[in-house]
Amino acid sequence: MRRLQEVLRDWEAVIGLEVHTELTTLQTKMFCDCRICHDDPPNTNVCPVCLGLPGALPVPNRRAIEYIVMAGLATNCHIQRHSSFYRKHYFYPDMSKNYQTTQGPVAFCMHGHLDLEVRGQGAQERPDATADKNEDGSYVAPIRILRIHMEEDAAKMVHVGGSEGRITSASESLIDYNRCGTPLIELVTEPDLRTPEEARLFMEKLRRTFMALGISDCSLESGSMRCDGNVSIRRRGTTGFGVKTEMKNLNSFKSLHDALAYEICRQAEVLEAGGAVRQETRHWEPSRRRTMVMRVKETADDYRMYPDPDLAPFDLSDEFVQQCRDRVPELPDARRDRYMAELGLSRKAAEQIAGDPATARFFEQAVRLAPRAASMVANVVVNMLPAMQAVTPEQTASIAELLAAEAITFAQAREVLGLADGTNEDPRRIVDERGLRQSTDADALAKTVDEVLERCPDQVRQYRDGNKKVVGFLVGQCMKASRGTGNPKLFNQLLLKRLST
Ligand SMILES: [Zn+2]
Repeated sequence: MRRLQEVLRDWEAVIGLEVHTELTTLQTKMFCDCRICHDDPPNTNVCPVCLGLPGALPVPNRRAIEYIVMAGLATNCHIQRHSSFYRKHYFYPDMSKNYQTTQGPVAFCMHGHLDLEVRGQGAQERPDATADKNEDGSYVAPIRILRIHMEEDAAKMVHVGGSEGRITSASESLIDYNRCGTPLIELVTEPDLRTPEEARLFMEKLRRTFMALGISDCSLESGSMRCDGNVSIRRRGTTGFGVKTEMKNLNSFKSLHDALAYEICRQAEVLEAGGAVRQETRHWEPSRRRTMVMRVKETADDYRMYPDPDLAPFDLSDEFVQQCRDRVPELPDARRDRYMAELGLSRKAAEQIAGDPATARFFEQAVRLAPRAASMVANVVVNMLPAMQAVTPEQTASIAELLAAEAITFAQAREVLGLADGTNEDPRRIVDERGLRQSTDADALAKTVDEVLERCPDQVRQYRDGNKKVVGFLVGQCMKASRGTGNPKLFNQLLLKRLST
């Protein structure tokens, strides 16, 4: 098959996503007060409501409605004041009342959008002429959101001895109703995505946003956030829609990207050979790096949707919506931009810290203690803390200040943090006690430089031949020779002096 970038020069991909997010941070289910905990022994968090026993009446979870409204506000949706729950009928053991409670034509949240900033290599997937690209090749892709509606999750079925997802005569099926009735929100995009990279970025941004709202643990791996992708292709320059296929099992950002990329290339191959794309649901197999047919859709499903007579329609008050608005925190992308503008962080560091609420909290606490060393705090948080167990914001602030003042080297900072990890020790005391000051003794450093140059004649020759980058390597060798105590800037200066003579 041809490469994606090549295919996308002739064909335009039309991609839409459906994202299901379980509101796992809620204590109780959507219409009853059963606990949400999928890991409990099977069928222990159940009651007449979520088991669908006749006569049991549902009571909506106010908190879940707050969460979906917050999700809508954070994705620029219009909050629909009047909406209601519908019954979607189907017969399958995972929903014993034989219908799923969901929303009809009007959902709580309608017509939103998220803007994606596409940069770097991923931006190259989209041919230059088809997007308003900046000088560095980056561009902004506005993605419309059709709706976000509320529904309930089904029970979990395990098929023993048969093939996954299918009941065969040889198999036995087990049902765990613990998950049944867990509040889910389903977000549907308009078919505005044009490359697999855009789809991946959309999903990442959505996940960051929902994490910041605290409405779900957003785990793609465990399935609390699940994504289906619809994709069709059309000749560049045309505007009609081709036949689309639906992709399942996209349980990582990589799978989402790779499955869409595969599918776009597959459809192009079919069409270029004079064939026709069939409307079908396909399953991504990461190990074989291809999609396989799951089922062929012949007719539209008839769910006999109608308003649920057991649930009164909603009329959300202005006060309620305002309460939800007040609970929406600063969102990750806004936070990233603020870190860059106000604290001078690099885009990469700002993005990494702002993207995780716990890390952002920690970082801001440390910056409050060391306001002048903010970018050094970011450096420590991003590069050193992942290897530590329990370093405090106070310790992080101290280390950042020592580094910013060039009192210690990065290697020493690592060592000190390792010693302070899990204790309440002030890193300054450890530095003083161990005499771990950075060496700025020019004579001692010059001696190290001479030794290193003597050991590395090849690199010296490369430098003189014009490869200036080799200095970085030599500084590294000097740092190593000084066991991390030498001042790297001084090493750099001394090396340049020696090499230029
Ligand atoms: Zn229940």
